[in-house]
Amino acid sequence: MGIISDVIENTRAIIKGMMTTASYIPKEKWTVQYPDDPVTLQPRFRGQHLLHVDELGREKCVACYLCAAACPSDCIYIVAADDPRPPKERTGVDERFAQVYNIDYGRCIFCGFCVEACPKDAITHGYNFELSVYSRADLLKTKDDLLITKQKQSPNYRVAFADEEVDSEYKVL
Ligand code: SF4
Ligand code: SF4
Repeated sequence: MGIISDVIENTRAIIKGMMTTASYIPKEKWTVQYPDDPVTLQPRFRGQHLLHVDELGREKCVACYLCAAACPSDCIYIVAADDPRPPKERTGVDERFAQVYNIDYGRCIFCGFCVEACPKDAITHGYNFELSVYSRADLLKTKDDLLITKQKQSPNYRVAFADEEVDSEYKVL
């Protein structure tokens, strides 16, 4: 009796599962033919970081190390330096700036703690998710890779609920 009821129960479960699978066959497919078609990302998606600049093109980062201190993966490496030139000629908004700003994407877990810790809104997550490389060493991104003025937006994604303005942050100032 026990075996028969087990067989009936399992057969019923299999049929139920097959019916669920079959019910999806006629429905609209959500497979995206990436990279032929762009992927739609949600506005709060956390991709490769952007280091921001002010309206004069000066780097907002003041090398305070708060992001590095907040990072649970210990993947941010900063070297601070002083730029004694007049304010308008400086690299950054402050005399102190990050001469080196590296993020190791082999360690980053895209938690966003660095963004939350930054008192200058100098770092945010961008949308770039195309970070695959053949060598682990290439996962180390430098300031030149991260500065918003140096990054080019990939045509392989678009952001949901956003108009074309979202791309403007990637345009060279
Ligand atoms: S997103 Fe998280 S793990 Fe990545 S650099 Fe920022 S704090 Fe570190
Ligand atoms: S990105 Fe922000 S938190 Fe990190 S060192 Fe620069 S100013 Fe400080």
